[in-house]
Amino acid sequence: MDWNATRYGFWGAAFGLAAGGVLIAGGASHASTILAACVALAAVLALIAGRRLRGPGKFAATVSDDGAALLPSLAREVFERLPDPLLLLDASGRVVFANKAMRDVVGTDTQRKPVSSVLRTPAVLNAIERTIATGEPTSVAFSIPVPVERHYQAYATRMEQSPRLTALLLHDLTAVIRAEEARADFVANASHELRTPLAAVSGFIDTLKGHAKDDEEARGKFLDIMSEEADRMRRLIDDLLSLTRIELNEHVPPSGTVDIAGLARNAAAALQSLAKADNVTIAVADGAGLPAVRGERDELIQLLQNLIHNAIKYGRDGGHVWVSFALAPSSPPGRRGGGAMVAVSVKDDGEGIPREAIPRLTERFYRVDVKRSRERGGTGLGLAIVKHIANRHGGRLAIESKPGEGSTFTVFLPTAVEAISGVTEVL
Ligand code: ADP
Repeated sequence: MDWNATRYGFWGAAFGLAAGGVLIAGGASHASTILAACVALAAVLALIAGRRLRGPGKFAATVSDDGAALLPSLAREVFERLPDPLLLLDASGRVVFANKAMRDVVGTDTQRKPVSSVLRTPAVLNAIERTIATGEPTSVAFSIPVPVERHYQAYATRMEQSPRLTALLLHDLTAVIRAEEARADFVANASHELRTPLAAVSGFIDTLKGHAKDDEEARGKFLDIMSEEADRMRRLIDDLLSLTRIELNEHVPPSGTVDIAGLARNAAAALQSLAKADNVTIAVADGAGLPAVRGERDELIQLLQNLIHNAIKYGRDGGHVWVSFALAPSSPPGRRGGGAMVAVSVKDDGEGIPREAIPRLTERFYRVDVKRSRERGGTGLGLAIVKHIANRHGGRLAIESKPGEGSTFTVFLPTAVEAISGVTEVL
């Protein structure tokens, strides 16, 4: 029996299981738990590999040697490939091993350095010091502010086997924290948007109960304003509910097949009276020969109505809206499908959009001109809804605009698989 090999094999298994235990005890996310399970598996494989390597001195490396040599090569490779940053420290707090993810966080030159010159956050260093000294597992949240702020949860655990290495595993919480911040901002914005019309309605109720009680003319005027404000709240609630519903379904690909040109004609017809009020002419291209699109009919109608309605709202009085179709040869990189895409463009000859505002248009409640949007009955959610519907359909939204020269909003949608065979021509 090769006791060295067995000892290191057991050490690997112990480390893996300890890391898993710490993560589970620390309430780590599902991903971290899976990761810890991988570490445990790797360690068990290391045990098996260790048992096979029987030559004397194979695992005779000490902490003063290259730290990576302490680990059987299979375990080292698994640790190296883990997406979460991992650091192994000796009893004096010097780095024995840092995997690639850790080197990306702290810089590449870590070998044999004291941990205090690799990670500078006092809370993490204190936690490591305590774990090394007492063997008590610790967990601490910290942030690295530069170059881009990132948030981590650090887990430190000391091995019971000799050499008593301490493992530090970082779990990246940046995406979770950003999502929480975005949700908090969203709730604050939505409350603010609802509070404004609500304040107006309560104000007019007070006025009607008070000094305007017997003023026939004022009552009619105030009731009209109250009704407009109530409509605004209703539109806002409708849009908020739509957005939530679409977001909930975003991971479920749509199952239907739709004729997008037909839907565009329906959407334009539904908005005809609004267009007429602004003397705007809507022209929808024929779209003959266009393949069917894989999609949810109601959602795509909403997408088209939002774009055409915006083109009317922010277009010129007496202007034009053109809806046209093309067949784009393939999906943009990284998108579902990989087949042909139908491009639907809604173009207007209105005021256009400043260049710097274009990337922000699909943010919830972002408007180039808040007053103008409110006057035109906008909620600031229309394009966020368009983006999420396009995402759910495996498509995307492209916006082109120059101030004074109008805007073109183009949605790319994957064609229904059965409809794309035989179509190669770009319309
Ligand atoms: P809103 O309800 O305010 O129209 P959207 O999310 O639909 O919200 O649009 C966000 C903002 O984008 C609008 O407030 C407007 O400033 C700008 N915008 C959208 N469509 C157009 C367009 N066709 N021309 C000019 N600006 C537009």
